[in-house]
Amino acid sequence: MNVSPEFLWDVIVIGGGPAGSTAATTLAQAGRRVLVLEKSKFPRFHIGESLLPYNRKIFEELGVWEKVSAAGFTKKRAAQFIMGNDSRGNRLDFSKGSFTEFPDAMQVERAKFDEILLEHSRENGAEVREESQVLGHVVEKNRVLVQYKSADGQKHEVAASYLIDASGLGNFTASRESLREYYAEHRKIAIFGHFEEVDMPKGEEEGDILIVRRENSWLWMIPLSGKKTSVGLVIDALDFKALQKKPDEVFHDAIKSTNAVQKRFAVATSSDELHVVADFSYKNERLVSPRVVRVGDASGFIDPMFSSGVLLAMASAQQGGQVIHKALESGKPLTAGMKRYEKDNRKRIAIYWEFIENFYKLHFTQFFFQPQNRFKLVCAVNAVLAGRTNLSFAVWWRLRLFFFLAWLNKRIPIAERIQIS
Ligand SMILES: Cc1cc2nc3c(=O)[nH]c(=O)nc-3n(C[C@H](O)[C@H](O)[C@H](O)COP(=O)(O)OP(=O)(O)OC[C@H]3O[C@@H](n4cnc5c(N)ncnc54)[C@H](O)[C@@H]3O)c2cc1C
Repeated sequence: MNVSPEFLWDVIVIGGGPAGSTAATTLAQAGRRVLVLEKSKFPRFHIGESLLPYNRKIFEELGVWEKVSAAGFTKKRAAQFIMGNDSRGNRLDFSKGSFTEFPDAMQVERAKFDEILLEHSRENGAEVREESQVLGHVVEKNRVLVQYKSADGQKHEVAASYLIDASGLGNFTASRESLREYYAEHRKIAIFGHFEEVDMPKGEEEGDILIVRRENSWLWMIPLSGKKTSVGLVIDALDFKALQKKPDEVFHDAIKSTNAVQKRFAVATSSDELHVVADFSYKNERLVSPRVVRVGDASGFIDPMFSSGVLLAMASAQQGGQVIHKALESGKPLTAGMKRYEKDNRKRIAIYWEFIENFYKLHFTQFFFQPQNRFKLVCAVNAVLAGRTNLSFAVWWRLRLFFFLAWLNKRIPIAERIQIS
């Protein structure tokens, strides 16, 4: 073991995804000595390709907007929610929401996107060690010790005043402390891949993400650069098991039996193998503990239906970095700021969780797919689904009324009783 804990970093960050790089840049810009340990060699494939308009605010605050906007990613102006039988659709155009401050977003290939963000952390002074897999950590009174393995197989030990866990779905520190709790009724499986020549919308609607609602599952279609489209199926884990089929059979059966998708696949070809991610919606019992803060997916993960993952990851990492910067000033292992971070992070996630839970319910879907912008209710929904998590009173009460009417729709038919498939 190569031991060098005589050098004390201010902060060690586990993981160099969007959360890790955001935390590292935030701290490095505040003058902190940051070490990022990332197990992969970038660029590397990652899922999570559709961003939300409010990501722009964080890009600007990190000073990375110029680089991201110059990378040639597809512009996303709207999200289209479509019934599987193609009978209805609801297009949320972000430029048409009265409470939405940013008109568009991007569809990104994560290999390129994550590399831009991580390189930006380096340029701002963070030390980034790729191919460095964290194996363990020990929290002591005045420091945290972290053990990792480098590409040559050598083991190392490093020390810092604080640790940020941005290890994504690996959920490194929370798994070691058994803090992970799955949402009981949301054990899902995602099967996804990249395809060429999918017939995606053109003209005004070019760049839109398509979210296709099936009976008990849903599909995404995300136009990436060139001719490439990302397509994925999210299905209940129990339904998947009951089918007793291989993931690629389940995926292709879903495409064939969903009118809204099948018609776009006439000449489509697969450009790589399909990937599978299982059991992914969870929360952690604690997001902070003395000298440790969990950010991004390592703080909790929710169904990607509304493309909120990268935004929530970066928002949490930015705040996580800020509170650690303050904690370093105070020298306390656990500060009020760290606890407030936990509360704020849970609040942000809860906003999307309410949409996700309801989207799987028929009465909500029927209401959602037949929007009426009376009292600007749709504008409030537009703002939140564009990534606005700081809810003004004007947005808040409209959202409450929207959910109330959707709930009422179960008892009194406010919206027409349309079928999904
Ligand atoms: C099926 C699916 C579809 C999705 N679609 C979308 C979408 O359309 N839009 C969206 O915004 N979000 C989407 N998401 C969510 C999005 O992928 C995540 O929210 C986002 O990647 C979180 O960023 P992160 O930095 O927290 O984690 P990650 O991006 O996963 O980064 C974590 C990093 O930590 C590294 N790491 C892990 N363990 C260790 C270790 N022990 N040592 C060192 N390094 C380690 C990993 O190699 C990785 O690079 C989707 C997720 C899934 C599962």
